[in-house]
Amino acid sequence: MKVNELILYGTKSLAQAQIESARLDAKLLFCKAFNKDKIFLITNKDDDIAEYGEYEKLLNRRKMHEPMQYILGKAEFMGLEFYVDSNVLIPRPDTEALVEKVIDEIADSKKTILEIGTGSGCIPISILHFCKNAKAFAMDISKYAISVAEKNAKSNGVGNRIEFINGDVFKDFPNIKVDGIVSNPPYIEDDVVPTLMTDVKDYEPQIALLGGKDGLDFYRHITKIGYDVINDGGFIAYEVGYNQSEAVKEILEDNNFKNIGFCKDIAGINRVVYGYKIK
Ligand code: GLN
Repeated sequence: MKVNELILYGTKSLAQAQIESARLDAKLLFCKAFNKDKIFLITNKDDDIAEYGEYEKLLNRRKMHEPMQYILGKAEFMGLEFYVDSNVLIPRPDTEALVEKVIDEIADSKKTILEIGTGSGCIPISILHFCKNAKAFAMDISKYAISVAEKNAKSNGVGNRIEFINGDVFKDFPNIKVDGIVSNPPYIEDDVVPTLMTDVKDYEPQIALLGGKDGLDFYRHITKIGYDVINDGGFIAYEVGYNQSEAVKEILEDNNFKNIGFCKDIAGINRVVYGYKIK
């Protein structure tokens, strides 16, 4: 088949499987399978390709609704590239609001943060990329996630300013002092997880989604224990679910955090809740 026929064939088979971005995905999967860039699709559209088993393999994965980022092994976040696989949540554009807030907070200062539930490492790595004097501890319960995050820290050139901790935040809260705590913890209500779209519920790690009965378990725990870990004047900043900002604000108030505020995501929803430890 010719290159443009293969793209058409891929587009049709993905569209039949209800993949919305069928044409774009077919092109990206073709480029991955043959290790070509998108220009090749234009300049070589009439080339004959006899062997395209690898392309079919990738199309079949996408037809099952496996996320593109896992198939391609990469995701874009804050303009940086992150390796991702099924051990980690795919970075979401919503999370950029949290990262931007923390970048404003730290700027050029020599602050150290603790991030909880690092997954791909997208949050602390992009913070360190933009805040050249900052340092981070990043924790995750999954040692597989930690190895993904380590790889991303290296490829993004911040490996020497980040320390990874493999542990369960409910059992092994790090005994350190930091200027801020950041987290995008699992926050979906347990009952809601089975109703999420296939791409998410069948492919992304459930452990990164399940936030307990009301979705707020991590906020309650991290806020309570985290207070003592934060230096005076330091901050706590969370990403929250679309309907959780008021509940998380209350959790912060109950634990003595002051000057609590919100930041909105691109859809205008309160996505970030932050507060300060002020004596
Ligand atoms: N910190 C990671 C992210 O924001 C993982 C979050 C999670 O697994 N809940 O992508």
